[in-house]
Amino acid sequence: ATGVPSAPATPPAGRAFESVSVATRDVHLAFGRNKVLHGVDLDVARGDTACVIGPSGSGKSTLLRTINRLLEPDRGDVLLDGESVLTRDPDELRQQIGMVFQQFNLFPHMTVLRNVTLALRQLRGLSRDEADEVALRQLDLVGLRHKADVRPGRLSGGQQQRVAIARALAMSPRVMLFDEATSALDPELVKGVLSLMADLAGQGMTMVVVTHEMGFARQVADQVVFMDRGRVVEAGPPAELFETPRSPRLQGFLSQVL
Ligand code: ADP
Ligand code: MG
Repeated sequence: ATGVPSAPATPPAGRAFESVSVATRDVHLAFGRNKVLHGVDLDVARGDTACVIGPSGSGKSTLLRTINRLLEPDRGDVLLDGESVLTRDPDELRQQIGMVFQQFNLFPHMTVLRNVTLALRQLRGLSRDEADEVALRQLDLVGLRHKADVRPGRLSGGQQQRVAIARALAMSPRVMLFDEATSALDPELVKGVLSLMADLAGQGMTMVVVTHEMGFARQVADQVVFMDRGRVVEAGPPAELFETPRSPRLQGFLSQVL
């Protein structure tokens, strides 16, 4: 597990995150005959960070994708600040919910700056100057303003992931979702991305973080959620889950990863 530096967060220039709560209620989802989620309840309080852990194939990514309507539950509901997302316009919803993937999904043919300004211009209708200003401020916050004019291919994986985070943050999301954001990175690059995520959590962003980084979960999460075979088996404060896991399945999982 990777340690998380304890440097205090620099708040984003003059703007507190508008944090909202996220919840899933009895979410069921199948891919064809493969039932993947069997009634998942998740509750992430406003401003909290929930880390979702569990074995590969347990449905973590699928659950995350139901939150911003990349996937539709077959049954159940997903709530953003108490309101169902299922009737919301997906494009509008995805502007309010930032998502960061394992593969950074940056556009290789565009500069770092253009990657960050794209959605600001196309979805928010900002002028080039306005979009540049917002994007440069976000790049500054992730320490990459000096890379604004290069293409992503020239950056390390860790830098690319920080650009992807800046791109999501530029939209002023109310919630951030991370799906194994550090799993594709070389070990020495993991720490920088995790410390950025820890900063965001410390600044009050509401976050749902699927991760294999148990050190991060232990130090940063307000709540750890252990999923196995499409169910939440155990959820609670990190100290509780890591020190005194109750279910044999969590005990087994932790004995393999810690
Ligand atoms: P995890 O993120 O915990 O590793 P996933 O949510 O990715 O688990 O996958 C859970 C199950 O759903 C797996 O059996 C996987 O093969 C299946 N699955 C995930 N995405 C799809 C998809 N788009 N189409 C079909 N099956 C999928
Ligand atoms: Mg996954």
